Amino acid sequence: VERLPDGRFVPQAYPKFDLLPIAGLWRPGGSTKRLQDRNPYNGAILVELQQCDRADLDLACEEAAKRQPGWAGALPADRAAVMSRAAQVMELRREEIVTWLVQESGSVRIKAELEWQWAHDVFLEAAALAHRVEGRLLPVDMPGKESQAHRKPVGVVGVIGPWNWPLHLCLRSVSPALVLGNAVVLKPSSDTPVTAGLLPARILEEAGLPAGLLSVLAGSGSEVGEPLVLHPAPRVISFTGSTAVGRHVARLAMESPLIKRLELELGGNTPFVVLADADVERAVDAAIFGKFLHQGQICMAVNRFIVDDAVYDEFLGRFLDRVRRLKYGDPDMADTLIGPLINESQLEKARRRVRETEQAGARLAVGGEPQGLVLPPHVFTGVTNAMPATRHEWFAPVAPILRVAGEEDALASANDTEYGLSGTVFTRDVERGRRFALRMQTGMAHVNDQPVNDLRFNPFGGEKNSGLGRFNGAWAIGAFTTDQWVSLQHEPRRYPF
Ligand code: NAD
Repeated sequence: VERLPDGRFVPQAYPKFDLLPIAGLWRPGGSTKRLQDRNPYNGAILVELQQCDRADLDLACEEAAKRQPGWAGALPADRAAVMSRAAQVMELRREEIVTWLVQESGSVRIKAELEWQWAHDVFLEAAALAHRVEGRLLPVDMPGKESQAHRKPVGVVGVIGPWNWPLHLCLRSVSPALVLGNAVVLKPSSDTPVTAGLLPARILEEAGLPAGLLSVLAGSGSEVGEPLVLHPAPRVISFTGSTAVGRHVARLAMESPLIKRLELELGGNTPFVVLADADVERAVDAAIFGKFLHQGQICMAVNRFIVDDAVYDEFLGRFLDRVRRLKYGDPDMADTLIGPLINESQLEKARRRVRETEQAGARLAVGGEPQGLVLPPHVFTGVTNAMPATRHEWFAPVAPILRVAGEEDALASANDTEYGLSGTVFTRDVERGRRFALRMQTGMAHVNDQPVNDLRFNPFGGEKNSGLGRFNGAWAIGAFTTDQWVSLQHEPRRYPF
């Protein structure tokens, strides 16, 4: 047992993650299928576990529904205390958590540290949410009636999450849902069952979350995800993933025996706009981080650079110079900035798009062959919005650059997409930047910053095919609670018949 400089003990590492918390007990899933969880950089098997079946799902949902009312009735201070303690557990286990993110999701150290920070922030935010839920007394035009709006937990929340920012994105739904008095059934991505489910479940357990309020069900989207969406118990499905699967989930939620509310955080196609009056050096600095963090596998990562003619050559020269010096390879080395893609099919998809982009007439200014799942950074010039390179989400370290003439052209190009998650504009005139940002059809728009931002208490979410709903702060309260109108008739009423 290690001691930190401040005297606190570092706890023993968590037990091997080959069991799942299902309806209050850590045990193997009931399916005969096994899930192999591999390190995407070296292929090593990190964990093998038994997947879940329909009976596990039924048990988890029943237990969640049974435990939830007692938890909702606990003092807000008691629910908040679990979240504060979870933040402390994360502090004590910082190195263990960061190492899991590196090994399981191929995160470079900088990304893993940042994800730790954001996940920790989510617990701090959740601790503050429990006391911010308020009801209201409403005006009434009826004698003797009192009218109230009560804000109640929804009951059971079903969470389905992705692999790319696994710990933070799982907790972004799970912790506000729990602290607001709900129970949660979570299906993590099969690429990251530990960091997207089992590790956060251990953290919450250690922080004192009562058993049975959070079940984690491992398994495929079709075998566990779809039955979870169709199950009558969850009243809200919080889905983070691709637009195609999100659409399918939305359809199922409406077809479920009991229709349910949806929170959808889906794909993006983030424009990074550089206007003629931009500080180009500053823009390039931001561009490198906003494009290549986590090898571009972030919903908010830059998908298209849209650069004004007036500064195009300067931007391109400086950008290429920086890209050529990016170190790629083993994510566990302190100076590596680009690690592996998550799996073979993501690599193949990126390589196919690279070939299509070349065939469409764009020029590959920087490229290279993959080493294992590590794709070196790529830059395309001569790109137009008609090319596949700019229509789809890359989720890879590939940077297409478009050349535009003036602000209106830049805006039209930025908005010419089915997606609307995040966007960025660079200009020395901040007021001009604000006006431009407000005309971007995105849920989030940043002036003179890169687009990969998520600040607790600031609304996070997308427009168009990037999703429905918002996370963080008051928006999370809206997502995981429901309003009930309660009226009290104090005097007899006169009815017309
Ligand atoms: P994905 O859509 O392939 O999978 C997401 C989750 O859905 C996984 O847990 C998967 O097992 C599950 N799933 C798959 N098929 C299902 C089905 N038929 N029914 C129910 N569940 C099913 O996405 P991914 O590859 O894990 O993640 C990458 C995508 O997620 C990208 O498009 C990215 O932009 C998006 N994303 C969005 C945000 C955001 O906040 N907007 C954040 C991260 C990732």
